[in-house]
Amino acid sequence: MSSPVWHPFTQHGLGEPIPTISHAEGAALYTHDGRRIVDAISSWWVTTHGHCHPRIMKAIAEQAARLDQIIFAGWTHAPAETLAQRLIEIMPAPLAHVFFSDSGSTSVEVALKMALGYWLNRGEPRHRILVMAGSYHGDTIGAMSVGARGVFNQAYAPLLFDVGTIPFPAAGAEQAALDALDAACRGPDKPAAFIVEPLILGAGGMLIYAAETLAAMRTICAQHDVLFIADEVMTGWGRTGTLLACSQAGIVPDILCLSKGLTGGAIPLAVTLATPPIYDAHFSEDRAKQFFHSSSYTANPIACAAANANLAIWREEPVQERIDLLGRRQAERLAGLRGIANARQIGTIAAFEIEDVATGYMSALGPRLLAFFRDRDLLVRPLGNTVYLMPPYCIGEADLDAIYGAIGEAVEWVRG
Ligand SMILES: *Cc1c(COP(=O)(O)O)cnc(C)c1O
Repeated sequence: MSSPVWHPFTQHGLGEPIPTISHAEGAALYTHDGRRIVDAISSWWVTTHGHCHPRIMKAIAEQAARLDQIIFAGWTHAPAETLAQRLIEIMPAPLAHVFFSDSGSTSVEVALKMALGYWLNRGEPRHRILVMAGSYHGDTIGAMSVGARGVFNQAYAPLLFDVGTIPFPAAGAEQAALDALDAACRGPDKPAAFIVEPLILGAGGMLIYAAETLAAMRTICAQHDVLFIADEVMTGWGRTGTLLACSQAGIVPDILCLSKGLTGGAIPLAVTLATPPIYDAHFSEDRAKQFFHSSSYTANPIACAAANANLAIWREEPVQERIDLLGRRQAERLAGLRGIANARQIGTIAAFEIEDVATGYMSALGPRLLAFFRDRDLLVRPLGNTVYLMPPYCIGEADLDAIYGAIGEAVEWVRG
């Protein structure tokens, strides 16, 4: 059916149902006709503490009554100043400067532009970006350029810029990936930066790699004076078990991208954090050296207020305990599943493939599974035949049992 609303990553021609959600609380979404849906993927990886967390909702309402929006070039406001200060306090020390934007993709564009600006302003322009095979960094042109190529972006392929691709450091193939990175860093066309999703590729199939490999990659980049960009848009805010995935490898990137859970998942906001050398390269009396990026809603006060409430929740509520508990609960249930392959978990994220079925994002299985779970009042959205769960940290035992029970049924159903 033709629809006035054009939904993302949706083939309207297939006529699949699009349920209407009227309200939400915790890990539950409620449809306009009264169904209670368990949100097993945190509404596309954003909701950390649960939907409509009272503190975040209150902060939004109070800020909305006071100051809705103000140009951020040459003007400022308390919610942004406080947020930048608090972020610097909880992020690893060398990350001392905060640039605001409004989505994960934009935070990546900003990171890439910061890296190129750094090299230009130092008088040694570099333009080559290194990436890890299979990565996802967003859907704008620059973010697609540094992400995996495929059916998602074939229409735009000729417009995407060239990058150097380092193989994914799968278990047993780590050294080959490190050698490739080392060789690429030595190349005659000196790279400006290497961008990675730390510890786990999200949209690329929830593929996990070792913290030691991430640490070794960071070292190689530092040795060759290649900037290291960590895209923690998905992994940040506790998803992998720690506030940042990078901390499990004991590393600090030169540039860090955060979004999704930054406001607890309530409202769009992103930040790109940079170390002093990046900021200092743009610091000058010469306007031509300033950082040339802005969006209309840069550091929107209401979004910043939501993020400040998220940080207060991290400071004052037992968030880490909730994350640890969710990790243990998922591990127990994952271990009980039969008929699955490559069961894997990191922090609050669990993933596996169903044994003996064709793979790939476009495999017909993904949409069939999506419908299977939707019919059981569960929001689970497989990536091809990769089923993954990434619930809000507040999810209860009964909801997890419902999810894992349905997964058990789905596996039997698929394997016939
Ligand atoms: C979701 C995601 C993005 C893009 O974020 P948007 O807010 O959807 O633009 C970028 N990088 C990673 C790792 C992501 O998971």
